[in-house]
Amino acid sequence: MPELPEVEVTRRSLGGRLAGATVRKVRLGKPLRWPLGVEPRVLVGAVLGEPQRRGKYLWLPLAAGAPQGPGSGPSARGGLLLHLGMSGSLALLAAPPPPGPHDHFDLVTDRGTLRLTDPRRFGAVQWAPAIDAPPAAARLAPLGAEPFDPALTAATLHAALRGHGAAIKSVLLGGRVVVGAGNIYACEALFAAGIDPRTPAERLGRVRCARLLAALRATLARAVELGGSTLRDFQDAHGVAGAFQREAAVYGRAGEPCRRCGAPIRRLVQAQRATYWCARCQR
Ligand SMILES: [Zn+2]
Repeated sequence: MPELPEVEVTRRSLGGRLAGATVRKVRLGKPLRWPLGVEPRVLVGAVLGEPQRRGKYLWLPLAAGAPQGPGSGPSARGGLLLHLGMSGSLALLAAPPPPGPHDHFDLVTDRGTLRLTDPRRFGAVQWAPAIDAPPAAARLAPLGAEPFDPALTAATLHAALRGHGAAIKSVLLGGRVVVGAGNIYACEALFAAGIDPRTPAERLGRVRCARLLAALRATLARAVELGGSTLRDFQDAHGVAGAFQREAAVYGRAGEPCRRCGAPIRRLVQAQRATYWCARCQR
């Protein structure tokens, strides 16, 4: 499943090339998770802005362009909210081949075709008049803090965890306090921070919150770096996690010796997801 680092790598790879592009045509394939919410033809002529990311969503701002010929009104403003779902990936193609059975959205622009390929179709592209207007606002409302937002500090994390009696691993995975800690990244960050994944979230003091936040940021930054360096034209939604997993300290290593202390890495299931941890290094 594409996680925050994959989406961030996608955003960076598209950003410079898409900003300023004019929409020429929109092609829809099979229905995605949510309807587009606008007539495709009213997007024609719109000019794309710099893509933004919020959690695992991308927001493609649209500015109204010149009317596209006599009788046509101004193009839609607002923007497109994109989600890669379970299996989606985005590519900007200079000379796109004819759409295949899993290509469900093409945004044809004068800078190339932005194509969403999504075999499982849990992904979505949805228009909204603004990022803070419906339906985009409702999609983004449940999201926790952005991990790299400077406003997120040990103190604010500590305060946000108050009242969360569930295990810190599950709270991270839920994404309501902070986004971005998918399973592999939550396991690795907790190991790096030396925190037992079973610890009730509200029991973490300021010092451990500071260690956890630093570890989460370092873990996600490393994943983005791996994605940026290994997948220049990002097309494989699982590529970043795959590259990251090869250097994982605990994730997927049950029974193998801890790279720090040599004790066997343990595995347990929390909230239906596998957790990997070192009982000696994580307290
Ligand atoms: Zn260890």
